[in-house]
Amino acid sequence: MQEIVPFNKPHMTGKELYNIAQAHFNSRLAGDGPYTKNCHYRLERMCGCARALLTHSCTAALEMQSLLLDIAPGDEVIMPSYTFVSTANAVVLRGGVPVFVDIREDTLNINETLIEEAITEKTKAIAPVHYAGIGCEMDEIMAIAARHHLKVIEDAAQGFMSTYKGKALGSIGQMGALSFHETKNVIAGEGGALLVNDPGLILKAEIIREKGTDRSRFFRGEVDKYTWQSVGSSYLPGELIAAFLWAQLEEAQEITENRLHCWHRYHTMLEDLEHKERLRRPIVPKHCRHNGHMYYVLLAEDLDRQRVLEVLKDSGIHAVFHYVPLHTSPAGKKFCRVHGGMRKTEDLSSRLIRLPLWFGMTLEMQEKTVDVLQKAVQ
Ligand SMILES: *Cc1c(COP(=O)(O)O)cnc(C)c1O
Repeated sequence: MQEIVPFNKPHMTGKELYNIAQAHFNSRLAGDGPYTKNCHYRLERMCGCARALLTHSCTAALEMQSLLLDIAPGDEVIMPSYTFVSTANAVVLRGGVPVFVDIREDTLNINETLIEEAITEKTKAIAPVHYAGIGCEMDEIMAIAARHHLKVIEDAAQGFMSTYKGKALGSIGQMGALSFHETKNVIAGEGGALLVNDPGLILKAEIIREKGTDRSRFFRGEVDKYTWQSVGSSYLPGELIAAFLWAQLEEAQEITENRLHCWHRYHTMLEDLEHKERLRRPIVPKHCRHNGHMYYVLLAEDLDRQRVLEVLKDSGIHAVFHYVPLHTSPAGKKFCRVHGGMRKTEDLSSRLIRLPLWFGMTLEMQEKTVDVLQKAVQ
């Protein structure tokens, strides 16, 4: 069967190649050129963070977070098991130990009420992941962190343009990480950003990103030469990526609105199946504004997910599932620790299906998807 409804289709604004040509003609190709600076400034304004730094991926931004917190062998970071590998891998790279706690039933985000009991004298940070661009319970998480003198590092890979109580996701903890990967809303192919909210960490972040040197200060004329200051790496993307991203950032509002439009169409169309208890739709807490990143459904317990996915596939509709909980993965078993039960993580992740959702998806495509899904879950 030919694919009729792809799972994802990257959206191009049309200005990307023009910007790339500009960078080309101006012979500005290395990182931190004019387009990168524009992106930094815009992200700072949009997210309300003290400093935004482009990285070559969200994974890179998460690795920078571990370096910035001086995560050392044995240090623990509390996070959900229901997340993308990079959240945990960034900690493991420094010799740290991700400690998993279970997720909430409604948002599939970390269950904040389970965090405190997982804290030990080795705990350094809490790493909430804003699943589907819907905010974690940040007030409670920040309060727990303050009580125990821990840092909060947000994985806001899916959360660009989303807010929690009016604050941009990624701008609430000491640091946040965004992704501009092709599969996210606002894209650069591979790309990301570190949001630094604690001004005391800005200089250190710049040094880590520039191979452990104070080159950023040198470029600003603050020092007359630059040297090796501390451990770091090369986390900055070249100008061509920033030129591409700049076109996308200029249209971030339209991109978000279009995706939200598609999201709400699914939400209305699937109401009936929820009433019939064939599936559950996503739940968005009142104080969260999301960005339409993802539309997922949780199938009723008696349904066979693999079969539902196959029925969709046989009709040319590409739907997928994720994540395999990290505590059940080979590396997760080796490097991580579980605190408490993983009942919700295991149950919810085994029943979840992500429906196709992308900028410009037509009503007909969504109707067809829902139509086939309806037959598959009856
Ligand atoms: C996509 C994603 C990442 C990784 O982003 P990259 O930019 O591909 O490195 C990390 N965490 C979460 C939750 C993600 O969805």
